Amino acid sequence: MKNYIIFGPPGSGKGTLATQISELHNIKHISTGDLLRERSTQKDELGLMISGLIDNGRYVSDDTIKRVLEEEIKKHGNFILDGFPRTTTQIHMLNSLFENLPEENKPIAIILQAQMNTVLERIRSRSKIENRADDSDQILKTRMTEYLKKTQPVINHYLKFSTSIGLDGNKTKEEVFNDFQIKSDE
Ligand code: ADP
Repeated sequence: MKNYIIFGPPGSGKGTLATQISELHNIKHISTGDLLRERSTQKDELGLMISGLIDNGRYVSDDTIKRVLEEEIKKHGNFILDGFPRTTTQIHMLNSLFENLPEENKPIAIILQAQMNTVLERIRSRSKIENRADDSDQILKTRMTEYLKKTQPVINHYLKFSTSIGLDGNKTKEEVFNDFQIKSDE
């Protein structure tokens, strides 16, 4: 049974693809964005700190993500991780969480690319339905900047050191899922 980690800019469809893959392989979809949004509904100190950052498009600290994720990961066997690792420090956290995994269970990296116009269009149409605080054009710019500065180096790491599958996220979700199935069989 395989484990996956999935990367893509905001609006690239990484959450959608992660859901499709979790159903295909019957593995748990762990979305750190969902976990953080859920945690932020508790209005204690940690919850308020999280919403103060994510609602403004900023990443939460590596320590915070560790706290929220650790409990969740322990509950499940195989998984697809959506939104983690997002910084180089988080690569080390992931490695230590899975130190004892046999080589064949080491996560495979899925890397979705998408153009700025695709991303903008999708986030704008999603914001009419979902009403997330971080979906305005202005906040989207911050999320993109965070992604390029902090997550692109993480992607470069996995391209170099791990098995990876690159996909064109500008295509429809059916096409992307189909491409994934073809490439993961290769
Ligand atoms: P997207 O990838 O489309 O921006 P997500 O739902 O994955 O959406 O994440 C939403 C927000 O949650 C991010 O902008 C960030 O503030 C926060 N977040 C999620 N995962 C992490 C992480 N691993 N480290 C720091 N912040 C995170």
